[in-house]
Amino acid sequence: MAVKDFSVEERLVSLIKVQKIESKIDDINKLRGELPMEVKDLEDEIEGLRTRKTTVMHEVKGIEDFISQKIQLQKDAADFLKKYEKQQGNVKNSREFEAINKEIELQELEIKACDKHIRDANEDIAELMNKISDVDERLGAKEEVLATKQVELDKIIAETQKEEAVLLEKANAAKASVEPRLLIAYERIRKSYKNGLSVVSLDRNSCGGCFNVIPPQRQADIKARKKVTVCEHCGRVLTDVELFESVEN
Ligand SMILES: [Zn+2]
Repeated sequence: MAVKDFSVEERLVSLIKVQKIESKIDDINKLRGELPMEVKDLEDEIEGLRTRKTTVMHEVKGIEDFISQKIQLQKDAADFLKKYEKQQGNVKNSREFEAINKEIELQELEIKACDKHIRDANEDIAELMNKISDVDERLGAKEEVLATKQVELDKIIAETQKEEAVLLEKANAAKASVEPRLLIAYERIRKSYKNGLSVVSLDRNSCGGCFNVIPPQRQADIKARKKVTVCEHCGRVLTDVELFESVEN
């Protein structure tokens, strides 16, 4: 039997069935809720902290190189100092003596300057190491939360994957018996509402989707099940409560 041979009631039943199955799929996604997003956010934060740690560690390495240079400079100055001090014993005149004295003074200044540079650099490193341990602490905390959330998410996915696959298959099978034109309208409306409801029943005198009052004549049409009636406010397909509730998915 082709789709067009179905009565309005049968068409509505098929559509309600599709809606009910897809609402169940929506429920599964709701169950997963914010978890996938939370996991993604945590992964991004952790990545950011790791990058920060690497940057600070590079800074430390740069300062360590600077210290090594200063230590070498200081050693060289100390060697020169020793050499000049030896020469001081063999000077021939006061001019030579003064020249050597000047050199000794310069080397002593150099050694002192290196001392200060090394001390300051070590202080900078200590500060950066504090930063690194702060980052490490935050990383540890975030990683712990991520591990918990990931386990939770994996569990929910494992529990619902099979059910979701079955529902998707059922939804596709049910869609095959819905008139294509009606199905297109259904899909369009479903996408345009956050709650994914495209077929709703009357809720007393109102549309079960947008809760606007439905005029008595339209209500009578809906109950008669002789034509497909849509809500003039929200565009959702309307059915009577009995029909809606009689459909099993
Ligand atoms: Zn409505």
